[in-house]
Amino acid sequence: MTAKPFASSADLGEKQRTLEVLAEGVYALTADGDPNIGAIEGEDFVVAFEALATPVAAREWLAMLREYTDKPVRYLVLSHYHAVRVLGASAFDADVIVAHDRTRELIAERGRQDWESEYGRMPRLFKEPASIPGLTWPTATFSDRFTIDLGGDRGDLELRYCGRGHTEGDIVAWLPKQKVLFAGDLVEAQAALYTGDAFHRDWACGTLDAVAALGAEALVGGRGAVARGREAVDAAIAQTRDFLRVMIEQVGAVQERGGTLKEAFEAVHTELAPRYGRWPIFEHCLPFDVSRLWDELSGVERPRIWTAERDREVWAQLQG
Ligand SMILES: [Zn+2]
Repeated sequence: MTAKPFASSADLGEKQRTLEVLAEGVYALTADGDPNIGAIEGEDFVVAFEALATPVAAREWLAMLREYTDKPVRYLVLSHYHAVRVLGASAFDADVIVAHDRTRELIAERGRQDWESEYGRMPRLFKEPASIPGLTWPTATFSDRFTIDLGGDRGDLELRYCGRGHTEGDIVAWLPKQKVLFAGDLVEAQAALYTGDAFHRDWACGTLDAVAALGAEALVGGRGAVARGREAVDAAIAQTRDFLRVMIEQVGAVQERGGTLKEAFEAVHTELAPRYGRWPIFEHCLPFDVSRLWDELSGVERPRIWTAERDREVWAQLQG
């Protein structure tokens, strides 16, 4: 058997990008399993949601958005600290960069290592990496809720913290009037979960409960197609929960009987692959996911920092 190429390093094909108008002035760009992004139009400004991995990549998205609106970007919202969602921030020229309090702290604590790690794992997303001016620093942070009045009769955009999940500081962007939810990586629609920096048990219970309670009728997840209609929204949330539940069960059972990390990886892989194995980034994510969950269930409170070196070690141990 030949070794699997590291993470997504061999995934170099261009992805099909689709800009969808979900309600008046509400835009989502999906990308065939690559990170999704969005924008919400206010009366005289735009709120951008997520920033992609580099300014050059972000400018391509902005050019598509500019076919619909030429209003300036007042707010750039970052759902969490991961490099492929924040390092393109400078392209937006936003007045305010909003994120959760914990996201700012995580950027200070591990932003540099995360940048190197993600660049090694997903080089294709880093279009012209030299265009990145440095780490992205939020200029407004909050702990629970941050409301943006969109003006006119457009209603509010509510940024909410739903609990620990994909990271310690994920937020969602919710439009109560239009019932559209930008869920960041807290929900994936037909894409594998990355849980290498996650709090699996919180995420699978209270956090997803809080996301579901919003009652969205359209949901833009971190990756995958837009879920349209309550049934599709519920299915995306259920799939996310199921992925987590299976991981927790399998890793817990292996630990219970005194097994090894490698055995836990095999058990999770065997259980998840029939349902999720063909979805984007499944093989890429799983070693990092199981490694973090192993720690979590062993009592390691906060995720250990991923570095380019640690990535390769875990990969060699579990996927090699
Ligand atoms: Zn992420």
